[in-house]
Amino acid sequence: MDNDDGDGDDGVAAWARDLGLPGIADVHTHFLPPRMLRRVWEHFEAAGPLIGRPWPITYKWPEEQRVEHLRHMGVRMFSALAYAHIPDMAASLNDWTLDFAERTPGCLPSMTFFPEPGNLDYVTSALDRGARIAKLHLQVGGFDPADPLLDGVWGRLSEVGLPVVVHAGSGPVKAAFTGPGPFERVLQRHPRLVAVIAHMGAPEYAGFLAIAERYPQVRLDTTMVATDFFAKIAPLPDALLPAIKSLGLNGQILLGTDFPNIPYSYSHQLISLDRLNLGEDWLRAVCWSNAMALFRESDESWR
Ligand SMILES: [Zn+2]
Repeated sequence: MDNDDGDGDDGVAAWARDLGLPGIADVHTHFLPPRMLRRVWEHFEAAGPLIGRPWPITYKWPEEQRVEHLRHMGVRMFSALAYAHIPDMAASLNDWTLDFAERTPGCLPSMTFFPEPGNLDYVTSALDRGARIAKLHLQVGGFDPADPLLDGVWGRLSEVGLPVVVHAGSGPVKAAFTGPGPFERVLQRHPRLVAVIAHMGAPEYAGFLAIAERYPQVRLDTTMVATDFFAKIAPLPDALLPAIKSLGLNGQILLGTDFPNIPYSYSHQLISLDRLNLGEDWLRAVCWSNAMALFRESDESWR
């Protein structure tokens, strides 16, 4: 099913069926207000300072076509991870992503927040509106996750057990507070926080895997991990495969892809995980069951 222009995606649904899966759950996809998404794509394609290398976007398509493509591939659960890089932005992003989830079956109601006064208010109203997943981007945001202005939000999200996808690793370019050290300070204060470490913490895989071993409610997502593209900029050390296998079988690794902002096909991400040879049970857990368990859904209950 591999083909970097997206054609190989026609084989994705059959790949999942052959594994015995009722579909695919992808916790790390992006749907944003159209003008903002266009600006993100321009930044990627211009190899801007936060990107550092050419990054042609495979799926620069209209929104309906991107949603339809996920359906066509059998992706039954996905997210709309928006994130703020400046103050006064998160609340309106949440309005958009929560509206989007309401009109888009299969999309987890998604929210974000920023270190700013008043964030607990808009986080509370997003929770009241049914948010089920949050996103924070420390590499683009450049702020300290242990900033006291975030403490109330971390506390609330820990209380309600809401998964927070955090881009905490130093890829593709290091920022002031990326890496396992700054994020573990948050977990020391909020040990029950259900953090989902994006990109498995790349390139600091070992440090973030160790955190997941110390905090069993922490998850890692597979976004871009093991792809040919990442092999050049954040190669996955073979020595970590046993830990990745056992964390996956323990419910702690979830499929993520960064669709649509990827410089290769969706199928290439799945092939890249398949060729790690961690076994079909691992693939079933990572591509479906671990997400169902995390969101307390089942094959039947998830719409
Ligand atoms: Zn992402």
